[in-house]
Amino acid sequence: SKEWSLANRPVGMPKLSDFGMRETDAPEPGNGEIQVRNSWMSVDPYMRGRMYDRESYVPPFQIGETLQGGAVGTVVASKHPDYAEGDLVVSMAGWREAWTAAPESVMANKVPKTGLPDSALLGVAGMPGLTAYAGILRVAELKEGDTVFVSGAAGAVGSTVVQIAKIKGCTVIGSAGGTEKCKLVKELGADHVIDYKQHDTYDSLLGALRAAAPKGIDVYFDNVGGDHLQAAIECARPMGRFAICGMISQYNDTEPRPGPNNIIQVVGKQLTLRGFIVSSHVDLQPQFLQDMAGWIQSGKMKFEETVMEGIETAPEAFLGLFQGRNKGKMLVKLT
Ligand code: NDP
Repeated sequence: SKEWSLANRPVGMPKLSDFGMRETDAPEPGNGEIQVRNSWMSVDPYMRGRMYDRESYVPPFQIGETLQGGAVGTVVASKHPDYAEGDLVVSMAGWREAWTAAPESVMANKVPKTGLPDSALLGVAGMPGLTAYAGILRVAELKEGDTVFVSGAAGAVGSTVVQIAKIKGCTVIGSAGGTEKCKLVKELGADHVIDYKQHDTYDSLLGALRAAAPKGIDVYFDNVGGDHLQAAIECARPMGRFAICGMISQYNDTEPRPGPNNIIQVVGKQLTLRGFIVSSHVDLQPQFLQDMAGWIQSGKMKFEETVMEGIETAPEAFLGLFQGRNKGKMLVKLT
């Protein structure tokens, strides 16, 4: 079976040559181990952070070691009392077609059949979904009637945030790159969309946000950072709440970038800017799954996926996140 590792630490935007593929045979499971054939793997923006050799909330990837990430697969052999052939498993053993390990060592969990497609376990009903849920409801303390601005609104996290905010009775402004993505965000229920590629200067972006929210915004859900964050500070109403989820526009920067030049407004407007990491909110998981299942069944929550076929495409899929090639969740289908 095939698997990917990091060949070099990328500088700036990663290149295909920063990745290396090899073939191995997943060994027969020993006592306490299972063998799993992955059917889906996830590529996520946070993986770029793990490619730097620096201390963070997750340890860096090591050169030559198989990369890790979310994956869904099926148990094909088991010497673990809690797992049987045919069980569906979500794990962190992605970037490979098959693996043999003790489930605990790769954060594997058996998942009940939900009626949802397996791929949803890596998206709307998985890590990005929980990120959206925890970020908008708990971190941003969303209230009915809020005016909410969401960047990266056509992506996995952002598209879920848009819909949760609509379910909770808010006015939603979503920004995304390109006409097609903006159309999707509108279809998901956003009241206003901003094509940030059409507003490619700070002043133009700010103008578009002001036009969409003439009375200002109460909540900003940040997926991209940079000009978007600065414009959101500018348009924030007093006591505004910001869930700082990610800043993808800066993940490939080689030099530190100046902060928002209007950060001083955080004082006068008494804004809350709160960063968060989804793994600190796993206590919400049961409630999240219950709510999400209900919303999906009742048609209030739609989820888009962009699927690349075959393990060979994994680096390309990953790079695609920084080129905006995905609508909704970017996934690699393995079998
Ligand atoms: P997405 O599905 O949103 O994919 C990434 C998208 O980012 C692209 O499709 C692209 O959309 C947009 N993008 C890429 N480069 C830029 C840029 N320079 N400026 C503006 N937009 C850009 O990914 P996810 O939903 O998985 O993640 C969204 C954000 O949430 C990321 O910042 C990620 O790091 C963060 N995150 C944080 C977590 C946490 O625990 N805090 C957990 C999970 C995700 P477009 O075409 O519109 O530009």
